Amino acid sequence: MDVRILMELESLRKDMKEYFEITWASLRSMVEPSFAERSVINHRDYLTIGDIVTSYAINITETEVWTADGHKINYDYLIIATGHADQVPKRRSHRLEQFQKENEKIKSADSILIVGGGPTGVELAAEIVHDFPNKKVTLVHKGPRLLDFVGSKAADKTLKWLESRNVEVKLEQSIDLNSFKDGLKIYQTSNGENIVADCHFLCLGKPLGSSWLSETILKNDLDFLGRIKVDDQLRVKGWNKIFAIGDITDIPEIKQGFAAQQHALMVARNLKVMIEGGKTQCNRWMETYKPQLAMAIVSLGRKDAVAQFPFLTITGRIPGYIKSGDLFVGRTRKQMGLSPHL
Ligand SMILES: Cc1cc2nc3c(=O)[nH]c(=O)nc-3n(C[C@H](O)[C@H](O)[C@H](O)COP(=O)(O)OP(=O)(O)OC[C@H]3O[C@@H](n4cnc5c(N)ncnc54)[C@H](O)[C@@H]3O)c2cc1C
Repeated sequence: MDVRILMELESLRKDMKEYFEITWASLRSMVEPSFAERSVINHRDYLTIGDIVTSYAINITETEVWTADGHKINYDYLIIATGHADQVPKRRSHRLEQFQKENEKIKSADSILIVGGGPTGVELAAEIVHDFPNKKVTLVHKGPRLLDFVGSKAADKTLKWLESRNVEVKLEQSIDLNSFKDGLKIYQTSNGENIVADCHFLCLGKPLGSSWLSETILKNDLDFLGRIKVDDQLRVKGWNKIFAIGDITDIPEIKQGFAAQQHALMVARNLKVMIEGGKTQCNRWMETYKPQLAMAIVSLGRKDAVAQFPFLTITGRIPGYIKSGDLFVGRTRKQMGLSPHL
């Protein structure tokens, strides 16, 4: 069977990305750039067999994938995992340099504005105040509470944690993104308030990576949000040999790396059944996926975190012990067959 992996490109610029990044380590890497040495991993380091095609997928047929650089790749089975389109450099070394630059930006600023109070904005604010407690950090969020995707208890505890570290949190306010200019030090919120900050970071949602499918054979398999509609075996509904996994799917659960890993493992096992048994029509031997329970851990610096479990919300050292020390980087590396340390 022909097994190839399509790697992602720096989306709009049709440029290739040659590495896998543990996304949830990226905020720590901004305040501690050496952290990225373990979390930004060349694809070839863990994918020691098989072809790697570094190009942007632009079209698919029932048997082929076409890439932006003109390659046609035949497939027997296709797995679409184009979660979110992100604009990051092509090479690992450039990504590491980017973290250095972001770190210099943080170090040289006395005051920092973070726009967006989802997990990214919250984790970044917490990382900054942990390493640089004397910097003035302001976080602006347009919703009525932080971390909209978790329960209100977790959101309240997070707000208290940040405020106890002198982060100024402004809820129900937004900032006109078009007003941003390099070197601008005064930012006006929707309430007319002025925020003075030496630099800013935008921590807003990224666009889904499904726009490239809108003119393909799967154009009718996207929901109104652009997510791919899948069945309980994570096949695109109505297609026997095309699967979709990760953030790009319409599975009713919080979009998390943990869930994406579970999708990948199950689809890999099902593929084995299909390939070995040749039973493409037969669902009998294939596993079905059950959406993950609503659980999430948001780190708050190096030692604390806020965790939402199905019937419990906790803040502090216990959830921090689970996630915040290493952010699951060593564990993820081990799952990829790599040493947890360099
Ligand atoms: C800052 C941050 C912190 C997070 N923290 C956590 C956490 O603590 N715990 C947790 O479980 N989850 C966390 N998440 C969520 C987690 O990162 C995602 O759920 C996970 O990465 C989803 O994986 P994916 O493979 O579906 O998509 P992605 O990781 O988005 O990967 C999709 C890849 O496909 C590429 N791509 C897009 N379109 C194309 C195309 N046409 N052709 C080729 N390639 C394409 C993209 O460039 C991208 O590299 C966090 C995310 C972020 C951004």
